Amino acid sequence: MTNPAVKANFAFDFEHVSADFPTLNQEVSGHRLVYLDNGASTQKPQAVIDTVTDFYETDYSNVHRGIHTLSQRATDRFEAARETVRDFINAESETEIIFTRGTTDAINLVAQSFVRDSFEPGDEVIISMMEHHSNIVPWQILEQTIGLKLKVIPINQNGELLFDEFEKLLSAKTKLLAITQISNALGSITPLKKMIDAAHAIGAKVLVDGAQAVAHTEVDVRALDCDFYAFSGHKLFSPTGVGVLYGKHELLEAMPPYQGGGDMIKVVSFSGTEFNELPHKFEAGTPNIAGVIGLASGINYVQEIGLQAIQAYEHELLEYATQKMLEIDGLRIIGTAREKASILSFQIDGVHASDLGTLLDHQGIAIRVGHHCAMPVMEFFGIDATARASFAFYNTRADVDALVAAVNKAVSMLK
Ligand SMILES: *Cc1c(COP(=O)(O)O)cnc(C)c1O
Repeated sequence: MTNPAVKANFAFDFEHVSADFPTLNQEVSGHRLVYLDNGASTQKPQAVIDTVTDFYETDYSNVHRGIHTLSQRATDRFEAARETVRDFINAESETEIIFTRGTTDAINLVAQSFVRDSFEPGDEVIISMMEHHSNIVPWQILEQTIGLKLKVIPINQNGELLFDEFEKLLSAKTKLLAITQISNALGSITPLKKMIDAAHAIGAKVLVDGAQAVAHTEVDVRALDCDFYAFSGHKLFSPTGVGVLYGKHELLEAMPPYQGGGDMIKVVSFSGTEFNELPHKFEAGTPNIAGVIGLASGINYVQEIGLQAIQAYEHELLEYATQKMLEIDGLRIIGTAREKASILSFQIDGVHASDLGTLLDHQGIAIRVGHHCAMPVMEFFGIDATARASFAFYNTRADVDALVAAVNKAVSMLK
């Protein structure tokens, strides 16, 4: 890293930050827990846990409904969280921040509202070979129900998206590009800005799956100029069951509601119902109030460290881990893109990933094994599973060294 600002930020004490995360300070199978499954979900800092507890202990009530004091306090905290999210991704307005259950829910909202409402049979949605199932299946459902066509951008053997092939898929029929920012299976970073500009040039809209990105890199939806951006709280050191859909105001304004119920309406009558204004139009029913307030706390925590510092630190950690892991006999890394973030998927000759995962767990090391909800990309590499170590800023070189030692030990037992 040559950027002096980033260097200066290294003053942050990444070596000891794990002390803020209670779950990380325990032993598993008699060993110090080394948690390397952050791609699936991240642990929560004490600050987030305290915020959620405090909310339940002091201000808990339903939001938007009551005029009583607790309901007003809960509503204030809930709406303050919306402002925190707006600032975090640099959206223009709070009306563009819709709280959802997570990334999956956010993508389905776009599919079932924006796409279902305005696409004609034969209209095309472009995704990539390395999407999470959450960004594949909602479009396949619409292939069956409204006749849209799904096009898939190929990747090369390094797990890099082929931009030239993407350009060839673009046509007057393309209505939406739905693309991940970082692949959860491979760690590849997609050339997002270039793709967004190319899609816009032919009049298509762009939805970004940011589930793997928000904890590792700064996101500015206005600089990206994406039309929709989806992410989950639980991969961002925040509670489960809460996520965000960002959408440009004029698009959200024109879209029909996704679900009907309380809070999303102004007036309900049997002669016709009037929908609420943004963002409430898309938030039917009682939301995950504590989750949303916890998400704001998780974002504040991350912002205090700074995503530039986090990105630089994790970049070095990934390089260190890659180099150390490649010293292991018979180990092959799946996903060797030049631009990568925080994920190391691998296979070892003659060793099944699930056996490896079990033996690592016996040594206190948590990794994920399997297809990582990305079966098409596994098929591309001709495999059915990888072992995946995925990093967060609380991981250290000592964690990597423990992983390498444990893999070596497991391999010696399995071979
Ligand atoms: C985890 C993940 C999802 C799904 O997120 P949920 O929180 O399970 O809804 C979607 N896309 C990517 C890239 C992911 O990593």
